[in-house]
Amino acid sequence: MKAMVFEGPGRPLRLMERSIPEYSPDQVLIRVSACGVCRTDLHVVDGDLTEPKLPLVLGHEIVGTVEAVGEHVEGLELGQRVGVPWLGGTCAECAYCKQEQENLCDQAVFTGYQIDGGYAEYTVADSHYAFPLASGLSDAEAAPLLCAGLIGYRALCMTGEAPKLGLYGFGAAAHIIAQVARHQGREVYAFTRQGDTEGQEFAHRLGAQWAGDSSMQPPTELDAAILFAPAGELVPAALAAARKGGVVVCAGIHMSQIPAFDYSLLWGERCVRSVANLTRRDGQEFLALAPQIPVRTQIQTFPLAEANQALECLRTGKIQGAGVLLPEIS
Ligand SMILES: [Zn+2]
Ligand SMILES: [Zn+2]
Repeated sequence: MKAMVFEGPGRPLRLMERSIPEYSPDQVLIRVSACGVCRTDLHVVDGDLTEPKLPLVLGHEIVGTVEAVGEHVEGLELGQRVGVPWLGGTCAECAYCKQEQENLCDQAVFTGYQIDGGYAEYTVADSHYAFPLASGLSDAEAAPLLCAGLIGYRALCMTGEAPKLGLYGFGAAAHIIAQVARHQGREVYAFTRQGDTEGQEFAHRLGAQWAGDSSMQPPTELDAAILFAPAGELVPAALAAARKGGVVVCAGIHMSQIPAFDYSLLWGERCVRSVANLTRRDGQEFLALAPQIPVRTQIQTFPLAEANQALECLRTGKIQGAGVLLPEIS
């Protein structure tokens, strides 16, 4: 099979011929039809995340078809369409796992980081961590739901019922979560890179009440904000935009350093928190909710062999919505 392989930070992914991976009794073999390109992949490529398996196949927004099932697999069938997310496995025994916080398990392994992911024609996944996917969206359109959608949804849940919601960084996750928030009757305030008028128009088309540069104050106080952009200076900016008691949720896996700020920004019971990974329950809830809304994704597709170009487009903000790799047209 063809795979785009990561060999170490600072080096471009390399197109390689590899043997189709072997599956264990608890795993399924999946023929990958689409794999989303996530900012986390950039953090791996750049060495911000320091513990990748090497060599590694990136990619944790995988949609594909079950081609073979291990002997212990229950609940997934040959030919079924499935999605594989970032959470690839947990210990199931620690205090976190037993208290519905498997996203915090110290033994967790992550797809496209400690285990090979979906920048390839085939992958294997632990059947307990793969989700059956409903019809409605094409494979490519569904791929961004698996991380941008799912971890975005977890972040949205952390804002409670906040009626006025700020979204900082209007990329793959925000364009999905804006639709969920609108569906729930919330007002969305979208913050983009400075001067990104296309991004701001995109946000308006998805129902945003207001869109502007991330350095701007919104026209009204926010009840909550989610930071999808990995820029630490947005934390004090979002706190300044939040009302007393408001929450600022940092949804990315990595962020540049947060600058020092006056305590007055945090005073008034404002709260800053992070969201780490996902639980399978998040996946089940969100993947059931998305078709009811229904969430529509805007995607820009790339052949598998152009994974490096796709990552570069993501880095420079040239993708509106989500980037998706298509192994079948490599
Ligand atoms: Zn555990
Ligand atoms: Zn991701």
